[in-house]
Amino acid sequence: VTLNIRDFCADLMDELQLIDNAQHQFVLSDRLTQSHEVLLDERLLRIILSNLLSNAIKYSKEWKEIELEISRDEQGICFQVKDGGIGIPEADRKHLFQMFHRAQNVGEISGTGLGLAIVKRAVDLHKGEISLESQEGVGTIFRVRLPLNEQ
Ligand code: ATP
Ligand code: MG
Repeated sequence: VTLNIRDFCADLMDELQLIDNAQHQFVLSDRLTQSHEVLLDERLLRIILSNLLSNAIKYSKEWKEIELEISRDEQGICFQVKDGGIGIPEADRKHLFQMFHRAQNVGEISGTGLGLAIVKRAVDLHKGEISLESQEGVGTIFRVRLPLNEQ
């Protein structure tokens, strides 16, 4: 089954915006130069993006912007989820994809520490890559690249 990346991302952002009660500002930056119908498992992509986006929501203050950027390079489709939230301390970064690991700065924000472990599995199943960039008190960017099997 093929999936239209652009439509899928727009729908997902709309859904999240609805359940967020207009707390955050959602921005979809579409840097694709054409429409991509790709052979990706929709459920896996939903797991990846909804976990990253719900973290972006959960770990940032109400009025902050949550950005999903989609682009493409020679190696595949790139998704970037950017927030202006609490950030992730350097010491925690290498453990984030392990089950139950939560960073030391989460404070009262609740969670099980499973989301990113699941994301990592989904990315691996797609033979993709995931990386992050973060600054405490400033924000975090998660980048996922999935190889493209275009129709
Ligand atoms: P859940 O299983 O409900 O998703 P969780 O959000 O705590 O719980 P993960 O999604 O696996 O678990 O994230 C692991 C940890 O990484 C979080 O506890 C948090 O410390 C840190 N983290 C993840 N995303 C962000 C983000 N966007 N900003 C700041 N910290 C983050
Ligand atoms: Mg989470």
